[in-house]
Amino acid sequence: MITIMTTDSSKNTIRVRFAPSPTGHLHVGGARTALYNWLYARKTGGVFVLRIEDTDAQRSTRESYEGILRGMRWLGLDWDEGPDVGGDYGPYIQSARGVLYHTDAARLIEDGKAYHCFCTPERLEELRLEQKEKRLPIKYDGLCRGLSVEEADEKIKAGDPHILRFRMPEEGEARFRDIVRGDFKTANTELDDFVLIKSDGLPTYNFAVVVDDARMKISHVIRGDDHISNTPRQVHIYLALGYKVPKFAHLPMILGGDRARLSKRHGAVSIDWYADQQYLPDAMVNYLALLGWSFDDKQELFSRKALTDKFSLKKVSKNPAMFDNDKMEYINAEHFKKLTPAQKVMHVYHVLKDEGYIPGDFHVDLENPVDLKLVPGTEPLTGNGEKSGGDELGRLFLIVSALGNRLKLLKDAPGHIGYFFKDDYEVDDNAVETHLTRREVPERLEKLADKLAGLNYFDRERVEEVVRALADEMEIEAGELIHPGRVALTGGTVSPDIFQVIVLLGKGKTVERLRKAAGIAKQ
Ligand code: GLU
Repeated sequence: MITIMTTDSSKNTIRVRFAPSPTGHLHVGGARTALYNWLYARKTGGVFVLRIEDTDAQRSTRESYEGILRGMRWLGLDWDEGPDVGGDYGPYIQSARGVLYHTDAARLIEDGKAYHCFCTPERLEELRLEQKEKRLPIKYDGLCRGLSVEEADEKIKAGDPHILRFRMPEEGEARFRDIVRGDFKTANTELDDFVLIKSDGLPTYNFAVVVDDARMKISHVIRGDDHISNTPRQVHIYLALGYKVPKFAHLPMILGGDRARLSKRHGAVSIDWYADQQYLPDAMVNYLALLGWSFDDKQELFSRKALTDKFSLKKVSKNPAMFDNDKMEYINAEHFKKLTPAQKVMHVYHVLKDEGYIPGDFHVDLENPVDLKLVPGTEPLTGNGEKSGGDELGRLFLIVSALGNRLKLLKDAPGHIGYFFKDDYEVDDNAVETHLTRREVPERLEKLADKLAGLNYFDRERVEEVVRALADEMEIEAGELIHPGRVALTGGTVSPDIFQVIVLLGKGKTVERLRKAAGIAKQ
């Protein structure tokens, strides 16, 4: 006898999905859900599906849809199937799947597992008020349950508004095991004949989500625990349609500092905001991963690769996670420190460019970014500190190196080094007041300008030598030249090593700014 073995390729494949409703920004909670799904898929070699749940036609917008995709791309959470990339189980946008919901609804009606209800919204409201008054559970009372299919058909033909309800079995219970939260059991008597299709013909969330997850062969439903109370109803729908019930993993709630569910009230919670503030996507991914998951309760810093290796649903916590912006900043700074100099420079370059600090003629060779072999101090400045006309990115490289770990957040880059690129940089009035208003300052700055102008080879050692020699000559501390000089050149009292700043500014700019400050100080 010959046995023919068939293999169903979808059988053992892990398929997960992120199913946002396009009704607002991609926020921290949604991004965390997307990330856990993505990590689980990438770790297991599974498939990550993006499905857009736009059955709330009133609140769904194109703008939100685009924003969600943009946020996911920024985070680097790529999807294998989705509205823009397609796949075998599409369409991936619920408004285009109406026929599938109606096909499955028809099956339920035929099997007697769903029925049409013609109760008016007014009657349902009265019922609700009555139940509330009598302190009874709010439930549909089943008035239309007894209508025959023929009676219902006639009413539909006559144009009576109607909805479709699930016929909840009177006995029994819905059970499911949640990977995070454990076993759940809900008696059917606690559930009512809930709505599957609304009067406008659109499916309810509970119905659409089951039809989609089943037809898209989703193996694990990983989502926020605000949906756990929906799960018993969804289990009923799976069973009624003869679909396999997926595994569930409900992720803990994310709380703000006041222990209330994280929301707009807590300030920045949208991913767009973090992108605008120039946080690093890898840092954001790292931080989001920690909102409900930990590896060993100790390690906090993870590369994307380490997360995909180490992530497991079993280690997701039942307890709410606390969103802590300071920790987010700390993780971001740690990731920034770990970037290679060339990566830092590229990030800083983009920030300065976006903020208009990089002039149009800034010469950048993005095809061949900064040469790491570049020896600081030799390229791309000429000996006299003037720009060589070569790759300006090289100068930026030196500036960023001089800044060292002082730069923790990319968004602060213009504040730290904007004066290298613009003449109308920010000036700290207190610094001017403290360092430039004394009587002797203009003369000192003029002399310093003269000495530096006389240098025909501009490097750090020579510049320092000149400054110190001038201080000796004038019988003052070098600081008496350095402090006002720093304010004159940078607008503030904090900068990288001032001699290096002078070299990197170049002779022309240094002399010009020292003289200008001397002029202002004189007034
Ligand atoms: N569209 C639902 C939401 O945004 C998704 C629920 C689910 O993942 O089942 O909350």
